[in-house]
Amino acid sequence: MRDCFEVRDYDAAGRIGELTVPRAGVTVETPALLPVINPHLQTIAPSELEREFGAEMLITNGYIFYGSDEYRERALDEGLHDLLDFSGAIMTDSGSFQLAEYGDIDVDTPEILQFQHDIGSDIGTPVDIPTPPDASREQATEELAETETALEVAEGVDVGEMLVNAPIQGSTHLDLREAAAAHAYTTDLDVFPVGAVVPLLNDYRYDDMVDVVAAAKRGLGADAPVHLFGAGHPMMFALAVAVGCDLFDSAAYALYARDDRYLTVRGTKQLADIDYFPCSCPVCTSHEPSDVRERADDERETLLARHNLHVTYAELRRVKQAIREGTLLDLVDERARSHPTMLDGYRAMLEYVDQLEETDPVRKDSFFHTSAESARRPEVLRHHERLDRLPVDGEEILLSEGAKNRGFDATWRLKPPFGPFPRHLSKTYPLTAQVPDRLSREAYEAAADGIARLVDANPGTAFTVAHFDWPESALARLPELPLVDLTEEDAN
Ligand SMILES: [Zn+2]
Repeated sequence: MRDCFEVRDYDAAGRIGELTVPRAGVTVETPALLPVINPHLQTIAPSELEREFGAEMLITNGYIFYGSDEYRERALDEGLHDLLDFSGAIMTDSGSFQLAEYGDIDVDTPEILQFQHDIGSDIGTPVDIPTPPDASREQATEELAETETALEVAEGVDVGEMLVNAPIQGSTHLDLREAAAAHAYTTDLDVFPVGAVVPLLNDYRYDDMVDVVAAAKRGLGADAPVHLFGAGHPMMFALAVAVGCDLFDSAAYALYARDDRYLTVRGTKQLADIDYFPCSCPVCTSHEPSDVRERADDERETLLARHNLHVTYAELRRVKQAIREGTLLDLVDERARSHPTMLDGYRAMLEYVDQLEETDPVRKDSFFHTSAESARRPEVLRHHERLDRLPVDGEEILLSEGAKNRGFDATWRLKPPFGPFPRHLSKTYPLTAQVPDRLSREAYEAAADGIARLVDANPGTAFTVAHFDWPESALARLPELPLVDLTEEDAN
């Protein structure tokens, strides 16, 4: 049991948790965003991030301090917290990014971890090898072996109370990612960044991102805090949290601002294209887009960075509220409409419905069936699994979308996308779901799968299905049984 992380609430595989960072003397609520601070380029001061945006944690690159004539000695003398003027938790990176970019760095894991410790980092990082997506299996395997060695070396370095990251690599080879996670979890290291996903995010490969995270999650225990390393665009927070990510870091707010780009939860806009700000943050309510465009470069950059951070933190709060309410998958569904690749990410996530179902709460307040994808949610899977066990009260049972019982031993209700259930369960979650009248084909197909499951579990019972004009694709999934089309009955 890892004592630095505790989960408070679950929704799908998303969770609200508490990460205790002993060296900083703070407990950070997750999901959390760590703004990236580059000491050479501070768009917004860390003290302001803390005061105005509520940042509880930030990340900076230990290797930049290590190699900087300007900052190295100051960091060692003053410590990162005083130097950056930040009282929350500070995570440091090791230079692995520079290693991936330039092929070589002049430091090894024991030395850089010791250095991170000496400058007062609260969570340090060993030198892992970030293998990019689509690398050959051979390269990914070899580099993963080096990363695993680095983690084992890191275990042996005495860093006192500093927590240590155990990065998970393996490129886009999902079995390697899972094995890497399982290995990392056996070490006594503390936080688990899923590494080298930035190229996936830059290419809008959200489905591959989901595959990689889901693979890593299969190798980790529930008490492992997971950091989606390098991910900071608010449009993908709901999706990434729903698959089980707890920490994000954002350089995006500043990098995008430098490039006149304006973040929204539905994607990125160019400042030049905006006539009206779709946001109620202090920047957007006190400026017109034209005012911002006319500002000097550094002023414009700061204004955009501030907006970008506001929208980023607001989305994180929205995600947390959704977890509390049990509506995270509704939010993911909504966000999935912002870009076709986000929809791919959402559909990829639903392939792992078994994984999501494990931690999805049994009771929630509401289930709004608002899309074809809703038919594949964990609640539907769970109901289908329950159909294997529900006692059947009679030899001849009518499964009906209507009300009439024509001399059967019992009538069960039939409700897409769940399928059949005894009437006494009508008022229990998720069968209380609000379902539109005009359902998608997928909802009927899921209901038909539920019927098939019930029939399969009760070979001695004769079932009859009474439906309102179900599509052929759904009827084709049913086993051989008597069918009544209630639409035709009504017409007669
Ligand atoms: Zn704004």
